[in-house]
Amino acid sequence: MIDIHDSAAVERLRRQLQLDPHPLRRLRNAFYKRRLDGACAVAELPEASRERAAAELRFHTLTLERTANSTVDGATKLLFAADDGVRVESVILRSRTGRTALCISSQAGCGAGCAFCATGHSGLLRNLSSSEILDQVVQANRMLRDEGRRVRNIVLMGMGEPFHNEAAVGEALAVLGRTDCFDHTLRHVAVSTVGVPAAMERCARRFPQVRLALSLHSARAAVRQQLIPTARRCSLEELRDAVATVNELQARRQPVMVEYLLLAGWTDRPEDLDALLAWCQGLHVHLNLIPFNAIPEATDLHPTPRPEREAFANRLKARGHRVTLRYSLGADVTAACGQLARSGRSADRPLSGTECG
Ligand code: SF4
Repeated sequence: MIDIHDSAAVERLRRQLQLDPHPLRRLRNAFYKRRLDGACAVAELPEASRERAAAELRFHTLTLERTANSTVDGATKLLFAADDGVRVESVILRSRTGRTALCISSQAGCGAGCAFCATGHSGLLRNLSSSEILDQVVQANRMLRDEGRRVRNIVLMGMGEPFHNEAAVGEALAVLGRTDCFDHTLRHVAVSTVGVPAAMERCARRFPQVRLALSLHSARAAVRQQLIPTARRCSLEELRDAVATVNELQARRQPVMVEYLLLAGWTDRPEDLDALLAWCQGLHVHLNLIPFNAIPEATDLHPTPRPEREAFANRLKARGHRVTLRYSLGADVTAACGQLARSGRSADRPLSGTECG
């Protein structure tokens, strides 16, 4: 079958069906912009082509198995199954301003093994295809249509390290930005990474509008390596250079977002603050301080209490840094940062919990 997001293959089918480009534009418009299902989109074609198009075009690569709605903050977790049975999670985040964000996954599981992250404890099952990454957006947007909402911001912060699946993530970003497909403003897309310097720079060159978020979490090498095992592969200096290069390459004023997880006794001490200040010195970044969401696998990690988080933020602000103190959404459905599923193949596994960064 032909994947609807595969423009070259769809174009070949169009020629075989001897279709004018216009009906195909109508089909894409119905599917991507009007958010209709595949059958309704195919109905935009001339009658003589519909049967074959319906038989050949594949509109979805994931099956939505379950959803879990937060009762407190408007988050909805979506659990999908792929053809081979692996589970993938996405999270819809509705803000009170009416804006809607979608956190999507780039891998089933993750091989980065971050100590604070449920997905990291599950290991990597496999990379998602670009189509599986995009189908999360399609299906979330379909759900949101009935609410009069649409996904505005897309963050690749779900399961997986996006730059460990760089090719598929690049293909997905390209399709998201295509005017005849999603036509999604890439300024509203963010990719979060634990730090793969060469891939960060490649992404910034190819997609200068996409925002990058670096999950730093500690500016002390030994601590960072305990929290993020893959941190052994590159030094803090290399990360710093990559951030500076990305800032130069990106055609936007917003700087790289630096994510920093506040963990009691690990990343919130005066020496941690000093190291972070030293790492940031002269660097144009926006610091995002994240509260830790507990996971059963990390019994030695605890959140920094809120007054200390605020004090940490205030010290950074006093040194002239842009700082956001983030609050978690979706914790009651284990959809908050770091809680996304120990994705597996079992249909019986209870719907659990978001990640990267
Ligand atoms: S935080 Fe991101 S990179 Fe680290 S294990 Fe979790 S999903 Fe993977």
